[in-house]
Amino acid sequence: MTTDSNSFPDPGLRTRLLRAGRNPAYTGGSAVNPPLVRASTVTFDNTQHQREMRAARGHDRVFSYGARGTPTTFALEDAVSELEGAYRTRLLPTGLAAIGMTLLSYLQPGDHVLLTDSAYQPVRHLSQQFLQPYGIEYSFFAADGSDLQAKLRPNTRMVYAECPGSLVYEMCDLPALAAVAHAHGALVVADNTWGSGCQYRPLALGADVSVMAATKYLSGHSDVMMGTVATTRAAWEALAARCDAFGMTVSPDDAWLVLRGMRSLAARLQMHEAHALQVAHWLQSQAAVRTVFCPALASHPGHALWLRDCQGTNGLLSIELLPGTSSAAVDRFIDGLQLFGLGASWGGYESLVTAAHMDQARSVTDWSARGPVVRLHIGLEDPSDLIADLAQALENLRPVES
Ligand SMILES: *Cc1c(COP(=O)(O)O)cnc(C)c1O
Repeated sequence: MTTDSNSFPDPGLRTRLLRAGRNPAYTGGSAVNPPLVRASTVTFDNTQHQREMRAARGHDRVFSYGARGTPTTFALEDAVSELEGAYRTRLLPTGLAAIGMTLLSYLQPGDHVLLTDSAYQPVRHLSQQFLQPYGIEYSFFAADGSDLQAKLRPNTRMVYAECPGSLVYEMCDLPALAAVAHAHGALVVADNTWGSGCQYRPLALGADVSVMAATKYLSGHSDVMMGTVATTRAAWEALAARCDAFGMTVSPDDAWLVLRGMRSLAARLQMHEAHALQVAHWLQSQAAVRTVFCPALASHPGHALWLRDCQGTNGLLSIELLPGTSSAAVDRFIDGLQLFGLGASWGGYESLVTAAHMDQARSVTDWSARGPVVRLHIGLEDPSDLIADLAQALENLRPVES
């Protein structure tokens, strides 16, 4: 509201305290990073302005209420759209929330979704917890996409891929998969957390929607949770409408941190890749290690597709130990590592290790005959230190003399 200062008495101190310093004026240059804007209430110049903004926010990005985003979350949305080659992006509180919101935005009771066998494991739990009770059918297709055509049902409305896949990095031919799905009238969603926009770009390869756990490489410092959903123009409205209906937003402080993390994303990934390859080649020469999983290795089944579709690899490596290695020996190996934190979420600057239970993580591929799998995240430490640490911990795999 505008006030006529001539007819309005000077406000008292309590009132002035509430009004002072809210729009600081200054001369000088600009900060490199955008300002952090926190908001719930947004005020307007007058009733007409408020009406116009309310009318516009259904289709345009308008700063109208904290739940609809703030200039800080808009800045991160724009950066992610640039990274993903997307029309626009929505931010969600976690990567898993981004996946859940994506399923919720494009599927209805009576629909069927085909999920990749290599999906991030909690997606299986989410499907059981939410899809099934809400009358949405789901089933799994092979991680390489080879059985996709045969598994389509008349009501298949979505094909959900993750490439490279969780834990052992299976590759699928996303353009071919998208052609099959689109011919059937199904939407293609890809979990792009592995590629993080730098190493893989699903939207350019035919996906309609790309989801990332920004918790991982985008934030890059293991101290913030965030998910992103980036879409083509055609897929945008359904997602935006659902996110608005559910009041989905993220803290501007978290958005600011992720945006800061993204400035060094490409540089960090380059270093993660170089270190991981050095460690991978060393691991390949170890007798206790049967397989090293990394799509950048020529021995990986998805290597040709990786060469064609990816711009690089990241810090993730998994190893299959010799079949018959006891779970006690695997524990001794993991517990013996000094420089690797024991933890599941990756993408920070530090090295991590965790056991991967492939029998629980796959339903199409049978892993029962294979050795135990351990996942490593190779961080920015000196790779020769990491190799020395792995060398001493691998000694723990030898049977204990009694
Ligand atoms: C970690 C991860 C997620 C989930 O992200 P959160 O932020 O931990 O919820 C989703 N997909 C993949 C591939 C992941 O690795």
